[in-house]
Amino acid sequence: MACLSAEQIDLKAQYALLPKPRIPVSPVLSSHALGIAKTSAPGLLNLTNIRYVTSGRSAIALALKELNICPGDKILMPAYHCTSMIDPVIWLKAIPSFYQITEAVEVDLSNLRQMIDEKTKALLVTHYFGFHQPIARLRAFCDENHIALIEDCAHALFGTNDGLPIGGYGDYSVASSMKFLPVYDGGILASSNNEISGIKTISAGPLFEIKAALNMVEKAIEYGRLSLLKPFIKWPLALKDMLWKFAKSDEQNKSNLGPASSDGGYGFDPAWVSKKMSLASKYVLKHANQERLVEKRRKNYALLEKAFSNVDGVTSLYSKLPDNVVPYVFPLLVHEPEAIFIELKQLGVPILRFGEFLWDGVDESVCPVSVNLSRRVFQLPCHQELKLKELEWMVEMIKNVLQQKHH
Ligand SMILES: *Cc1c(COP(=O)(O)O)cnc(C)c1O
Repeated sequence: MACLSAEQIDLKAQYALLPKPRIPVSPVLSSHALGIAKTSAPGLLNLTNIRYVTSGRSAIALALKELNICPGDKILMPAYHCTSMIDPVIWLKAIPSFYQITEAVEVDLSNLRQMIDEKTKALLVTHYFGFHQPIARLRAFCDENHIALIEDCAHALFGTNDGLPIGGYGDYSVASSMKFLPVYDGGILASSNNEISGIKTISAGPLFEIKAALNMVEKAIEYGRLSLLKPFIKWPLALKDMLWKFAKSDEQNKSNLGPASSDGGYGFDPAWVSKKMSLASKYVLKHANQERLVEKRRKNYALLEKAFSNVDGVTSLYSKLPDNVVPYVFPLLVHEPEAIFIELKQLGVPILRFGEFLWDGVDESVCPVSVNLSRRVFQLPCHQELKLKELEWMVEMIKNVLQQKHH
């Protein structure tokens, strides 16, 4: 649904030709991913009411529907965003109103105060990269103005914020499990104050279930994990590919195949809004070794922070990692990004830029900070399944490319 400029379409075409990242950009299944005994960490999964769907964007759509958002209603959305956050607003014919982000990567409350009017129904707040927004203050702002609060925890599945598990202040909170766990699909809608059991979700069908289960194993093997399974998985995978080809040839079945969100796409398909999370993803979500996930992500983040602490041309976006944060990625602020972004991708370094494609019309005149962040922040993975030598390889590649530019 998002409307892209010619320049953005060009860039996307260029990206389509890039090699596959040499190391996994998001978690892949390993023999350590699931806990033998249940280990848990505080986070959004602790909230009272939870629904499991197939993507974060579907969860946003459901949250807006639960809030009875009508055509013409205004939703306060961050100028620093990815387009998949905006599509659900457009789908409901509501109007995204873009608020500013400060240099500290926080919601600009004074800007919000100027924007609010009688048409405004909700505020969506994103905890960028796993770092928390001042949520108690934002909750108070919403209460004073009688609007709803949606907490976007796509980058923050674990952690606590202002004394509650992350997501605990939102009327509705949403998350995206693919960003934290080795799963093919997954979005979460949660609320501690609102009953959400009235939402009907339905299975996406057996083909989707098979794909979700096998895709996890396939991706793991692709990146050299679970190699012992390789001989056993060959035939099921061949069967899956065949079923898939067959299903793809059937136009009517198209929406059974899998949501765009699972293939790294930005698209929004209303047919997926009320589909249930796959059984395989839900299993992994329920059995994930959460303590290990938290520990490893924080450790990998610290390693990356240290590795880049004295490198010319880059700085860590945040000056420190607070105790209650479980990072999604390590955000590296690159002073001259355009010179090296594509080059690094061509080398197979798994970097992404959040907000690389901002919604049509969101430019310097709307929020210069957001535009700047969307160019200059490179997300480096710090997930729990990265091996030390993979992290070291990534650091070396980035340092080399930076050094060439500075000499
Ligand atoms: C990825 C993302 C979403 C959407 O999640 P999907 O599971 O990809 O649909 C929403 N908000 C933010 C901040 C995201 O990064």
